[in-house]
Amino acid sequence: MPPHIPHPEESARLPEAVAPHTNTAPVPEPFYCRRCRRALNIRFNDLGIIVEYLHAAEQRGHRSDHRPEPTPVTEIPDPIIECDFCTAPDAAWIYRCANQVTDARRVTARVVAVGDYQSRHHAARVRRTDTEHAFTQAWGERWSACQGCADHIEARDLYGLIGRVADAMPAKLTRGKHLMRTRGQLHDRYSDVFDTLAPSRGRIAPGHPLGIWTHQAGEAP
Ligand SMILES: [Zn+2]
Ligand SMILES: [Zn+2]
Repeated sequence: MPPHIPHPEESARLPEAVAPHTNTAPVPEPFYCRRCRRALNIRFNDLGIIVEYLHAAEQRGHRSDHRPEPTPVTEIPDPIIECDFCTAPDAAWIYRCANQVTDARRVTARVVAVGDYQSRHHAARVRRTDTEHAFTQAWGERWSACQGCADHIEARDLYGLIGRVADAMPAKLTRGKHLMRTRGQLHDRYSDVFDTLAPSRGRIAPGHPLGIWTHQAGEAP
């Protein structure tokens, strides 16, 4: 298990100088876990050095029972390509967009007022939350999508996609007050995906984990 980061505060940002033609440049091959044959994501530090691999599903709030064993996807005989949006096991399409990174901040202290704590104890309101930079999360340039999520993407139906993904998330992320926060994070992330989406998409097929791209946007320089 990778170390559990308690309640990371996230702020999404896009790397600078993102231009639409960036989407046609070669993209490094994604890493998959040799053991469970599922996608991995990376976290890196301030120097750009990879500090951790984690299962893509974990990044989306699901749990895993083993440590990732990173391997290039083309070296995995029969990779299980899950939908990067709703985690359904049967992704059908690969989309490309600008790489998006998220700075996660670790909460180091929650400050409550003394009087408030004495009267309300654990229900005391948090006056201030101190955080420190924990890691930078790369979401990658390739997003796999199941047919249901792809329908929302093709229609540029942002809220439909957010609703579909939130419904598929673990209850701990969508219960009560968490729902608003989770939907906000999805909105930020998917807005950037939509804004930088490459015009074509690849169809995932057996032996083609990176997708078959019939309308290559490669005509551009
Ligand atoms: Zn695994
Ligand atoms: Zn999906």
